[in-house]
Amino acid sequence: MSAPSQTLTLLAGIIAVAGVSTVVWLALAMVARIAPRASLTMAGANGAAALSLALHALRGGLPDGLTHWPADVLAVASFALLGAAVAAITTRHLPWKPSAAAVAAAALVLLMLPYDGDLRWQGRVVSGTAAVLMLAAGMTAWRHLGGATDGRRTPAPLALPLFLIALLMALRGADSFLHPGNTADIRLPSGFNLAFLWAALALTLLQNATLSFLVLMRLIRRIERLLERDPLTDTLNRRAFDQALDYAHAWFKRGRGYALVMIDMDRFKQLNDTLGHAAGDTALRLMVHELQPCLREVDRFGRLGGEEFCVLLPDTDIAGAALVAERMRALVHAAPLRWLEQDWPLSASFGITEAERGDASSDAVLARADAAMYRAKGQGRNVVQA
Ligand code: GH3
Ligand code: MG
Ligand code: MG
Repeated sequence: MSAPSQTLTLLAGIIAVAGVSTVVWLALAMVARIAPRASLTMAGANGAAALSLALHALRGGLPDGLTHWPADVLAVASFALLGAAVAAITTRHLPWKPSAAAVAAAALVLLMLPYDGDLRWQGRVVSGTAAVLMLAAGMTAWRHLGGATDGRRTPAPLALPLFLIALLMALRGADSFLHPGNTADIRLPSGFNLAFLWAALALTLLQNATLSFLVLMRLIRRIERLLERDPLTDTLNRRAFDQALDYAHAWFKRGRGYALVMIDMDRFKQLNDTLGHAAGDTALRLMVHELQPCLREVDRFGRLGGEEFCVLLPDTDIAGAALVAERMRALVHAAPLRWLEQDWPLSASFGITEAERGDASSDAVLARADAAMYRAKGQGRNVVQA
């Protein structure tokens, strides 16, 4: 194959990949409705890239007014959209303002440059803006991926393709200074252009694959969360709590203790019967909300059923559990339910225990906490019992 047709073939390859990716992201956004804003932004990024490269490839065949300035602006827009999509997926916030500002600024600068001669400065503006946008996107992704909060971490190296794209675009800008003989025309069969196009093809594939992986991870996380949470209070459901408890008990056998705080709201049936089920639901949510400040990141808060909850405190003994439970008791008691302009006093009874040597399984520990809680009921409620 002769050299010029090699660059054209590579260009066609990148256009095809970006074009197919546009359709796939559109389908994700509109049909599957998975991360719709981020997916739509990715469709835009791929579409703009495909269109820009197609216009570039058609230079000379179509009017310059169509293939020059619009192609350059579309190229910058495609990088800005990619950066915005990365931020949307990793931070759940679509920063469209800085992206729009970058495109507008680049478009203005390009508008002031004369579109005649070798168009080297236009190429430098596009490459430079793209490199800066990709560096910023890579840094955003790196920060947010490494420190992901909701459970499992997403590895930060998933941000790597963005840095590679930034590097590639910076190299393209640098090449125009190092080899002033080359023009900005990507179709020219220079060694640099061939290497650049191969790298661009690989990175287009890699970047789309990485982002679809991240979107998929987000979907899996959402499903996992639905599976393990109680829909009313967002605490762990019975199944997930039992799992956490079994896990803690396995660690207990290897020398790490844990304590349990069993919580049962007092006279809840009366509240339901007097104010209605909706008030009861609100009271449950209110209590869970009030207890949040007592929980460390490692503690697990589960709803065992009805108005009965349990808190698992890893690395905690009975004395520590007593302090936590007493603080919880006071907090619940100090936060009455406001319903129809009236305050309804809330309280709960607490049973605490710690894992002991003779406990064959976590069931024994749970049963002891339950028994302690029933003693608290017997003592007139709104108390903590060990
Ligand atoms: P005690 O002080 O002895 O704990 O009395 P209690 O009324 O709280 O205890 P009991 O177990 O008899 O009543 C629990 C009530 O909780 C019965 C049920 O109607 C109500 N309940 C269970 N789940 C829910 C729920 O999801 N929402 C609401 N609103 N009520 C619930
Ligand atoms: Mg109760
Ligand atoms: Mg109960």
